[in-house]
Amino acid sequence: MSRSGSGPGRPLLPGSTLGVLGSGQLGRMLALAARPMGYRIHVLSPGDDTPTGQAADREVVADYLDLDAVREFADRVDVVTFEFENVPAACAEAAAEKAPVRPAHRVLHTTQNRIREKRFLSGAGFPVAPFSEIRSLDDLEAALAPRRDGGIGTPAVLKTAGWGYDGKGQAVIETPDDAEAAWREVATDEAVLEGFIDFEREVSVVGARGMDGAFTHWGVLANDHQDHILDLSVSPAPVPPAVAEEAVALARGILEELDVVGVVCVEMFLTRDGELLVNELAPRPHNSGHLTVDAALTSQFEQQLRTVCGLPLGSTELLRPAAMANLLGDLWHPDGTETVRVPDWGKALTFPEVKLHLYGKAEPRVGRKMGHLTALADTPEEAAERALAARRALNESAP
Ligand code: AMP
Repeated sequence: MSRSGSGPGRPLLPGSTLGVLGSGQLGRMLALAARPMGYRIHVLSPGDDTPTGQAADREVVADYLDLDAVREFADRVDVVTFEFENVPAACAEAAAEKAPVRPAHRVLHTTQNRIREKRFLSGAGFPVAPFSEIRSLDDLEAALAPRRDGGIGTPAVLKTAGWGYDGKGQAVIETPDDAEAAWREVATDEAVLEGFIDFEREVSVVGARGMDGAFTHWGVLANDHQDHILDLSVSPAPVPPAVAEEAVALARGILEELDVVGVVCVEMFLTRDGELLVNELAPRPHNSGHLTVDAALTSQFEQQLRTVCGLPLGSTELLRPAAMANLLGDLWHPDGTETVRVPDWGKALTFPEVKLHLYGKAEPRVGRKMGHLTALADTPEEAAERALAARRALNESAP
């Protein structure tokens, strides 16, 4: 019988074992938060010697659809969580036969598909960019009609409904003539067309909700993207207090409406008119919250552990302004060729207030998240400059 809906129950205290589905850097940082508190970590994914596996007590190599392996995995842990939201429904259901799964699978179901996510958000009255559900080229052409005729108009962004991340499966449409090429590019039978938002900045709020409904957050993070991939996050975000208050209220409302136990990141656009629009939800710790590891009293990963184990939540107080700069595989290819040149880590470490995080990935592919730097400072602006200077220094010895 499923134990996933079995109510709050007793907290899972240190000595318990946490099972993680997915084995990337998010699971690694969860393991690195959980182990000092005396928890054991098991991880299941199709990969071997993974970022999470390297920091875990047990690494199970199995396909997410090998349901016998999933059941056996879940049977040996006290609670199952995930670090990537595209875990197939059948996998989460098989795990739930043997252990509580938190967040519940219905949260994954809503957030792993953009159509369901947009319906949820707009249905519950949260502000989103104008959007239209697209299932054919005809739908797309009709939806590109001007706003005055009830369409989305141009420019617009076409996004595949499932399996998209870091801008993959997206095409910007400048004029209706681009429709066919964009439909071919996203290569899907289910997509969302969104109005292009000329935003002032992108922000996010990472929220955590406990089993008793307690809500915590780390304030508003300001995010810069390069080629659709997060590049730099800064905390606190330089936004007016009223905007910060509204962003947090939106995040809180969304976590409550989802009735989630766990961590959810709410990504938003701040328009030039000062309006907040929800872009995307991630039902797990988020890249923009990585700076909480070094800059907050309780990190997003420790809070994830606390939520899924039913523990009291920790203080999210920010100890100092901070900035996080991602380290992509591109840094290993400074001259733009296939040749790999390992960044000079010693150079970044000459900045005493910069912390280096590497995820243990063997192959530094272009666009792949390999690690990040977090800089602490007296102001967010200074922290951003410091993080970027430390990252530039990594390649200073390169020609
Ligand atoms: P997403 O995968 O939806 O988070 O999109 C990745 C990035 O593409 C966002 O962080 C934005 O920088 C950009 N983007 C996505 N949707 C829009 C939009 N409707 N208008 C403008 N930029 C967008």
